[in-house]
Amino acid sequence: MSKGQPVQVIIVGAGIGGCALALALHKVGVPCRLVEAAPELKPLGVGINLLPHAVRDLASLGLEPQLAGKGVPTREYCFYTRLGQLVYREPRGRFAGYDWPQISIHRGDLHGVLLDAVRERLGSDAIAHGHKCVGIEQDANGAIVHLADPAGARLPDIRGTVAISCDGVHSVLRASMHPNEAVPRYEGTTQYRGVTRWKPFLTGASMAYLGTHETGKLVIYPIRDNIDAEGRQLVNWVIEVVRPNDQLLRDWNRKSRVEEFIDHFRHCAFDWLDIPALLRANDAVYEYPMMDQEPLPYWTQGRITLLGDAAHPMMPRGSNGAAQAIIDATTLAGLLAAQADPLAALKEYEAKRLKATANVVLANRGISPDAIIRVVEERTKGKPFKNIEDVISREELVQWQERYREIAGFAARDLKKPGALA
Ligand SMILES: Cc1cc2nc3c(=O)[nH]c(=O)nc-3n(C[C@H](O)[C@H](O)[C@H](O)COP(=O)(O)OP(=O)(O)OC[C@H]3O[C@@H](n4cnc5c(N)ncnc54)[C@H](O)[C@@H]3O)c2cc1C
Repeated sequence: MSKGQPVQVIIVGAGIGGCALALALHKVGVPCRLVEAAPELKPLGVGINLLPHAVRDLASLGLEPQLAGKGVPTREYCFYTRLGQLVYREPRGRFAGYDWPQISIHRGDLHGVLLDAVRERLGSDAIAHGHKCVGIEQDANGAIVHLADPAGARLPDIRGTVAISCDGVHSVLRASMHPNEAVPRYEGTTQYRGVTRWKPFLTGASMAYLGTHETGKLVIYPIRDNIDAEGRQLVNWVIEVVRPNDQLLRDWNRKSRVEEFIDHFRHCAFDWLDIPALLRANDAVYEYPMMDQEPLPYWTQGRITLLGDAAHPMMPRGSNGAAQAIIDATTLAGLLAAQADPLAALKEYEAKRLKATANVVLANRGISPDAIIRVVEERTKGKPFKNIEDVISREELVQWQERYREIAGFAARDLKKPGALA
């Protein structure tokens, strides 16, 4: 570690990225403290997919058994037209020969595994709850984080060598670092997310994509196995539809109703899954507008930097939001451990991660894995095909997926290299 003064890291936000950073810093022996705005961290959200590079990094923190025990190792991706015709399927994670699984998991379960490990390893008081960051300053000796309680009353400042802003899509530090950033743009698509308790479908560990957002897109996969005596699973689903929306605040907890989108799927009672019945039997439906933001020119100013959604908010397509936050965390911790100068570590972190994540933000606009369905729908004009080979070659289908894997950093050859904390 560094010569001279010991480094103390202040982590703002104990979400997925903040907790992963705390655990990664603990592993490399760098002390940290977390401040979290929420008075209590509840198991919020619905499904998240952990791609194999994120699982590699979480495995290096000793968490793979806990995650595999809570989630479902994804066996395959399958892509269907809106008429339910199979376009392409490919194996995933260990089923594709990787050393790590791809894990579909409830965000609350993922967050719970991370929070339990933080409390166990760093102490039950490692996270200061109800401590909202309202600003960060720095001087020659350190970063000063200004805090307020949930009622808005000021709390004592805390000081560290560096401060890392992991405070999500509405990051306070991002706003003060880039006051003239353009307002996020509504892509024209609204996402509806939910869960349903249902019998296993396809392989019981398939992630299926159907249709396009112009006509109604669905992504569906199980996130908990064997949740009752009938062997049902908790099945996560995400719908995207093009529509006007005047509720453009990115609020992960905004409730909605199945009536908002069910018409798009009335015809989708297929032999492999009765989609309208499953959607109607939901436990919960949430609405989220797809807001697009340009990648930032920089994240680091001296002793402070951004991580996860605070640094690179991306439209939630392609399963990369949590994965990229986790890789940011292990990369930064590795550099803080290796570099004598923590400010140089923050700069190098930005150099390693800004362009890489900007490429994912841009890819999610038009060439995410499921966008291959649009290519097929355009070529067939939405009509049924006899043989998929008449529409698109196998090589093109394989290449489409490979390109996204390369952009997102989980091509098979990238995963032969050790992770940041291996
Ligand atoms: C409640 C919730 C539900 C979500 N549900 C889903 C989902 O269903 N599917 C999905 O794909 N993604 C979901 N996400 C987003 C997903 O967690 C992130 O995209 C991804 O994991 C990157 O994590 P992050 O740590 O950057 O951000 P987040 O996981 O969003 O964590 C940010 C943390 O910072 C805290 N925070 C915010 N402002 C401040 C502040 N000023 N001071 C201190 N702390 C602050 C927040 O309370 C939160 O704990 C959800 C996020 C949240 C917060």
